[in-house]
Formats: sequence, C-alpha cells, structure tokens
Amino acid sequence: MFRHAFQRDSSFNHTPSSLREFIRYQGPISVEKAQELALYHHEYGYYLNASTIGNGGDFITAPEVSQLFGDMLGLWCIAQWQQAGSPLSIHIIELGPGNGTLMQDILSITNQKKDFIDSLTVSLVEICPALTIKQKTALQRYDYVYWYKHLEEVPKGADFTIIIANEFFDCLPIKQFVGEEERYITYNEQYHDLIFSPAGNPKTIKETCPIATGLSREITRHLSPGVGLIIDYGDSTTPETRLGDTLQAVYKHQPVDVLQSLGFADLSHQVDFFHLQSLFESSRFQTQGDFLLTLGVEHRMAKLMKVANPEQQFQLTTGASRLVAPSEMGQKFKVLEIFNL
Ligand code: SAH
Repeated sequence: MFRHAFQRDSSFNHTPSSLREFIRYQGPISVEKAQELALYHHEYGYYLNASTIGNGGDFITAPEVSQLFGDMLGLWCIAQWQQAGSPLSIHIIELGPGNGTLMQDILSITNQKKDFIDSLTVSLVEICPALTIKQKTALQRYDYVYWYKHLEEVPKGADFTIIIANEFFDCLPIKQFVGEEERYITYNEQYHDLIFSPAGNPKTIKETCPIATGLSREITRHLSPGVGLIIDYGDSTTPETRLGDTLQAVYKHQPVDVLQSLGFADLSHQVDFFHLQSLFESSRFQTQGDFLLTLGVEHRMAKLMKVANPEQQFQLTTGASRLVAPSEMGQKFKVLEIFNL
C-alpha cells in the first residue's frame, strides 16, 4: 500500500525525458530561454555532446576546413602586437575554442616568433566539459594555456590582450519579436507538438541578442589595451532591412526543423554585425574573403605549396578556395576587428 502511494507521488517530480516534454510540463518558454536550454542545459543541452564539430560532427568551421585559417589569424596576432610596439606581456583569449584546432594552428605559427611566444599566456573560454577535454588533449604540449567557463573569470592585467571568437556569437541565445510581442515556444496538446507563439511572418520577425551586448562590454573591459577579432556568418544591414527570422538548426551538416530537433541539433542565428559594431568605439568590418586576402593568404599558400606533397597541395588549394571564394565562406562570413589601443 505504502509503496504504491510512494511510486505515484514520485511521478510528479521526475525529470522530463526531453526538452519537448519539459516545455509540455513547464508551459510556454521564450525562444531565448528555449535556445539556452537546448544548448546548455545539463541534461538536454546540445553542447554536452563532444562530437559536434568537424567532418564527422554536425557542422564544420573554418579552422577545421584548412590550417591556412589559423595560420593567417596567428600572423594577424603578431602584426597587431608589433604595431602596438611589441608590449612585454601578451594574453590571447579565445571564446568557444571548439576542438582546439584554431588555437593549435595559431600557436604553431606564432611559435616561430620567439619574443612573441616567450611573452604569451593563453586563456580559453569554454562552456562544454567534453570539448574542454578535447582542447586539453589538442594543446597538451603548451604549459601556458588555461581554461575558464566565463569571460568574467579570466584574469586581466596583460600589457596587450587579443580576443578571438570564431563562430561563437552565432550560438548565443536570441530574443525574437513579432511586432512588440516576444515569441515563445509552446506545446500544443491538439497537435502533440511544439509550436511558435505567436507564429508570426518569418520575414518580419525582429531579433535581438542581449547576451552579445553584455559580452561586448566585457570584451572592451579586457581589451585595455588590445584588439579583438569576431568572425561569424551574418550581416551588417540596418535594423529596417534585416532578414527576419534567422534561427536555424543543423544536424549532421543538414538544415533541420528548429522545433523538431530542439536539444539534438546545433542552433544558431545570423549575427547582427550592425548592432555589434555599434558597441565598439573603434572597429573595421569586412568579409572573411577580403580579410584573408588582405592579410596575404595567397602568399602563405604559395609558401606552403612548395614543401607540400600532391595530397597536401590538393588540401591547400581546396581549403583556401572554401575559405575565400565568395560562393563559399568568403562572402557569407564576416570579420569585425576591434581596436582598443
Ligand atoms: N571556434 C570553434 C568552435 C565554434 S562552435 C571553431 O571555429 O571551430 C562554438 C563553440 O563555443 C563551442 O566550443 C561551444 O562549446 C562554445 N560555446 C558555446 N556557447 C558558449 C558559451 N556561452 N560560453 C562558452 N563557450 C561556449
């Protein structure tokens, strides 16, 4: 008797098996909150899964496409530091380092510049425990790399700070609005499915990213003095001409339905560079293609080609083309350089 009563009671506070069930029990939650849970919740969060990035994962990023990307960013770091008069201590902070590939490439090229590397400390800001383990393995030979979960925890005080964020801002949760009304996700008992409420016309939906605004302030605080590099897909169109609903879900390199895949697929949005740029006093905005070409990616490639075998030469040329060509990542991805000197 007693045992049965106990079993019935316990069903009231069990943890729902999925985010869909969670919303069903909990009631409507904002798009922003849903995104936060879908990405970071200790049980439902997508970023608890380590195999998200790369050819075998759900999406591929520039450093995974080619070593040339990290090489050029490493050369950019050295050039910025030299332009600032080669200050004595350097601190590179990377936000959301994924598999650790970008930092591996940056360190392997900056390693050739002794006075730079001798003055260097690296901090990686990563929320996902499984990816932190991957990064620690990738970077184990460097004893000046440290990990943090939040940028606010990273110590300040270097003579020169460099902050790098590649495909980081696109995964921060956004708010969506239909007119003045905030958009929610709710469970519809009739359809036994999640729906957006209000549904809204995707073309006229407005988006804001409050976390990006707070983070930008924190970046400015760290860059005193220093430079930053935010690379992501998105646009710099004015609020009036912005795209509407840009929330997208990707699973195994394929776009999938946001609501059906909540918690299982990567969720991201197109970064609003118009707003982001307005948050920094001094910055330069351009496409990834222009940025890499101006930095001399062609010269770097020509140099590497001379010592590469045919297979490596093929990798280099296809990689460079994917990074730079307007039809591939060159136009879609944008670069915001931030200067706080
Ligand atoms: N920069 C990497 C990975 C991009 S994917 C690359 O270019 O390959 C996004 C990365 O940001 C992942 O490492 C993810 O775990 C991390 N991340 C996402 N949200 C985060 C947050 N709020 N705080 C810290 N890291 C976060």
